[in-house]
Parts: sequence; structure tokens; C-alpha cells
Amino acid sequence: MTITVAVAGAAGKMGREVIRGIFGAPDLALVGGVDPASPGGDCGELAGVGHRDAPVVERLSELPGRPQVIVDFTHPTAVKENCLRALGAGIRPVVGTTGMHADDIVELAQVCDRQGVGCLVAPNFALGAVLLMKFAAEAAKYFDCAEIIELHHNQKADAPSGTAIKTAELMRASRERFGLNNAPEKETLRCARGADFDETGIQIHSVRLPGLVAHQEVLFGGLGQTLTLRHDSLSRESFIPGVLLGIRKVVESRGLVYGLEHLL
Ligand code: NAP
Repeated sequence: MTITVAVAGAAGKMGREVIRGIFGAPDLALVGGVDPASPGGDCGELAGVGHRDAPVVERLSELPGRPQVIVDFTHPTAVKENCLRALGAGIRPVVGTTGMHADDIVELAQVCDRQGVGCLVAPNFALGAVLLMKFAAEAAKYFDCAEIIELHHNQKADAPSGTAIKTAELMRASRERFGLNNAPEKETLRCARGADFDETGIQIHSVRLPGLVAHQEVLFGGLGQTLTLRHDSLSRESFIPGVLLGIRKVVESRGLVYGLEHLL
């Protein structure tokens, strides 16, 4: 059966990539896009695949039909409202937008439970990044010192990345505190040691440079050895198989799922 989908943030870098992915999937039908940056346009033209009769509108309520699923790659300031509006209309969100507060995710989960509908929030849709998080959680059992370096393009709106936060959360589930034997430190330049994630001792460092897409290293240190795990998204195509999987799974699910790893 065909699944009907809309894309919020259709004119953005990820939105255009998702549109191309949906057009390439025979079991998915794109109803249209939502993006205040490009109302009146056409999704096919935005994605560079020619006119497809899938309009880009300013608001969800202006879409030509009600989709079953809405994929959100917008902005940290917009994503929660977008999700609440979609859930209110019985549309299931697949959320890639990062920067949502943990409390917002809890609130969305409660709305999903009340309404008996599904929602997926995934800080990273790239399979390699999901595996990196899993491996980092495993390594955290054996190494008591760890630091995360995440590197992204310089148009990213939030820091640290959602992936770095999720990675640290998973590592914390393996060990409460890291770096216990580190010497007492005095920073002579503010933030030189990065940000301590939730006082776990996992230091997170965010790098922003043009030319980058999305990259992350997790470095572990132990007696006489280090272990480095690294993942690189070299293009935005890396996220698309995960997004398509999310769309197919969310139509069958109830409640909020946080992380693609739960669907693999
Ligand atoms: P982008 O190029 O800036 O695109 C975002 C688009 O959303 C823009 O066209 C923006 O319009 C639009 N927008 C803003 N508010 C909106 C609203 N309320 N409704 C609909 N559209 C709205 O950003 P991007 O690089 O595509 O990234 C988008 C988000 O995805 C970021 O949070 C990023 O961190 C995240 N991301 C996640 C993954 C993952 O795997 N989970 C992968 C890549 C990126 P304006 O320009 O007018 O604001």
C-alpha cells in the first residue's frame, strides 16, 4: 500500500534530499512540502527533478491532502510546534531536526501515547552513525575516560549536535562517571576542555567549518592505549535510507521512538 508523505523544511538542504529519496521510492507518494522559505514552489523543482505537482506551502493546513507521515528537517526553534500541529491532525512525524530539549521529547511522547499514534525522533539517520553510537556504549563499559568530537558544516544551528548528545546518553547508561582520575584542571581559556555532558565527565567538543557535512569521533583512553571510533557522513544521501525506513515503520507504530537503532 502506498504511504502518503509531506516534507517540512522542503526547501532546505536535507528537505531537498528527502524529496529526491521519496520520489525514488515506489511505495511512497509525496503530497507536498511545507516551508516558509519557498511557498508557491513545487517539490520536484526544488529537488531538481522537474515539476511533480507536489506544491510547497507555508503551513501544514494548506497542503492539498492530509498525508499519513510528515518528515521534519527544519529548525530547532520550529520542530516542536511542527510536531504538535502534525500530531493534532493525526499525522505521524518522522523528525530529523536536532536541538530539541529532552523535556520536549518527553512532552511529545505523552501526546503520542494519548493519541495512540506513532512518531520517530532520530538525531542521526545514517546507519554508520547509529552503529558508532552502539559501539561507543559498548566501549564505555571498559574505558573510564572518553571525549566526543563532533564536526559539522558552519550553517548548523545547534551545538552540540543531537548525535553527540544521544551518544553521551548511551555511554552514560554503561558508566555513570568518566575521567575520575583526571588531574584537577584550570581553564585559562573558557571552554578549552569542551562541555561536560550532564556532569558525567564526557567532554563534548563541537567543530564548525565550511566543507564539512556531519562527522563524529569518540575517543576512549585507558592504561597505555586509546580507542577511536569515527563516522563520516560525506554527503546528505547517507541519511536517506534511514529516513525512508523511518517513514515505513512509523505508519505501523504507536508512541514515540527516540533513535533509529530501535527500528533496525
Ligand atoms: P536548512 O538547510 O537550514 O533547512 C531548513 C529549512 O527549514 C529551511 O528552508 C527553513 O526555512 C525551513 N523552516 C524553518 N522553519 C520552518 C517551519 N516552521 N516549517 C517548515 N519549514 C521551516 O537545514 P538542514 O541542513 O536541512 O538541516 C535541518 C535540520 O536537520 C537541522 O536541525 C539539522 O541539524 C538536522 N539534520 C539532522 C540529520 C539527521 O540524521 N537526523 C541529518 C542532517 C541534518 P528558513 O531558511 O526560512 O528558516
